[in-house]
Amino acid sequence: MKNKVKKTSVALCLIFCMILTLSACSNLKTTSKKHASEKVADADDKAEDKNDNKYVATAIDDNNNHDTDQVKSQDSNNQENAQINSQDNKKDNKNDNKNLDENNLNNNINSEKKSSDSAEDKEGKSKDESQLGDGDKSEKKHNNTSSHVLPPVSDVKRMVVCIDPGHSGVVASGTEPIGPGSSEEKLKDTSGTSGCVTKIPEYKLTLALSKKLKNLLEEDGNYMVIMTRTDHKDPLSCKERASIANKADADIFVRIHADGIDSQDVNGVSAHYPTKNNPYVSKYSEKSRVLSEFLLESMCHETKATSRGLFGRDDLSGSNWAKMPVSLIEVGFMSNPQEDKLLADEKYRNKIAQGLFKGIEKYRKKYDK
Ligand SMILES: [Zn+2]
Repeated sequence: MKNKVKKTSVALCLIFCMILTLSACSNLKTTSKKHASEKVADADDKAEDKNDNKYVATAIDDNNNHDTDQVKSQDSNNQENAQINSQDNKKDNKNDNKNLDENNLNNNINSEKKSSDSAEDKEGKSKDESQLGDGDKSEKKHNNTSSHVLPPVSDVKRMVVCIDPGHSGVVASGTEPIGPGSSEEKLKDTSGTSGCVTKIPEYKLTLALSKKLKNLLEEDGNYMVIMTRTDHKDPLSCKERASIANKADADIFVRIHADGIDSQDVNGVSAHYPTKNNPYVSKYSEKSRVLSEFLLESMCHETKATSRGLFGRDDLSGSNWAKMPVSLIEVGFMSNPQEDKLLADEKYRNKIAQGLFKGIEKYRKKYDK
């Protein structure tokens, strides 16, 4: 019995031992597994650690970055601040500059204003002075105008025509020099001729024609007309007639006459001008000739009268005393019955006046007056 128990005990011991052994082995495996897992875990941990480290590093980096960023941020903030400050400064500077600029601008404006003011002042002064000058000038003009030294502005471009109706109802007696400085004397005036048929005196015909011409010139608007006489009452010497034209500063002097001789056969129109050899008015000879030519041609064209042509005459005292181009036009022969009748006709007179007007117009346009 004891042996059986012994054997059983031994067997149980063995089993127990085996169990223990197996258990130990199992523990070992578990431990090794555990170690392995621990290793893995360690590795994972390590990896995690690494990651953690990485994270840490990243975190540190991040921190660093953050710090850096913060630094940067701070820097940037600082920079921003700096920029802001800078901007503020700049703003301030700008503002300052702006203020400065504005100040400068204001100063400039002020200085410009001052300078412009001063310029304006100067200009103003000069304007004032010029205005004053103009004013003075205009006043002078006015004064001149008012004193009749200069014609009004509206009359500046007008051509001044002095018309001299030949002879007068009252004949000026005595003699006068034939020209300035001349010792040669000539009758101041004559009674002129008269119509062989109509008995109309020359001085009436010439005044009637002169008035018609005057009206045409004035209606045209380009002329200012001066008449040596407007009636038959006053005696006028030839020198006095020229003096009226000279005082008026006439551009041209148109003298109107009519011919009369002993013969009734002669008729026609002629124009007389001072020659280039005229000792008194040779400088007006050319224009006088042109004026005479235009008057003659135009009048003959209008009246269909015969042209007797141009005559150079230096013996006409009324022309010799003139200080402008002058023409004496003989409108026809009152000693010729046919022409005398025509000269008495109102329509024919109108044609004469129209012809003379057109001649003067041609002259004015030629000399752009
Ligand atoms: Zn006459």
